[in-house]
Amino acid sequence: ETFEQLGLRPLVLDNVKKVGYKRPTPIQKHASPVIISKQDLMACAQTGSGKTAAFLLPIINTLLAEDLPAGDDLPARPYVLILAPTRELALQIDREAHMYSSGSILKSICCYGGTALFYQKNQLRRGCHILVATPGRLKQFITEKHVDLSNLKYFVLDEADRMLDMGFMSDIKEIVKTMPPKGERISAMFSATFPRDIQTAAAEFLNDYVFVVI
Ligand code: AMP
Repeated sequence: ETFEQLGLRPLVLDNVKKVGYKRPTPIQKHASPVIISKQDLMACAQTGSGKTAAFLLPIINTLLAEDLPAGDDLPARPYVLILAPTRELALQIDREAHMYSSGSILKSICCYGGTALFYQKNQLRRGCHILVATPGRLKQFITEKHVDLSNLKYFVLDEADRMLDMGFMSDIKEIVKTMPPKGERISAMFSATFPRDIQTAAAEFLNDYVFVVI
């Protein structure tokens, strides 16, 4: 199995090669085609499995096929939202999004709590295609109308079990309410475990999903 077989376009393939990946990991091989075929996804995968690229590569690949506005003056209406439980994970996802979309018009930005609001608000004002965020800070930015999710095409909930353990569920529900309804967006959840409360969340956030376990 190769990245070519995943159907990635040349710019994304070049970026993957530059990063040094030789072949897709199992989660990439099984989860990426689900997202490419525009189906919702529930994936059970551990950190270290390559799960970040498993959702970023197909999403970036699909966005690049569309005729998107570019530049420093995008509306603050992202196409992609990735929610992560911690600042460290959000920053890591944002870094990978930059690597995989390098040389394209795509802009990814990152919003997380525990730091000054000013810089992140400024970034949001200049717009983005991809927003990586932690739930508390994003909920605040939505309430204050610094960002608007009404144009969202892709929603990824990463490390969902940790999100629930950290008490983010009510913030996440508030955030999801401001998105287009499921069925009118593509949603993917990643979790290391699949206990009852994650099953309930999957039923609430996902539309007719494909289940992948690695
Ligand atoms: P993750 O599970 O997303 O946290 O990824 C774990 C690490 O694996 C990250 O440092 C990635 O850069 C790396 N990685 C992701 N996909 C591949 C791949 N196909 N081949 C080699 N390394 C990879």
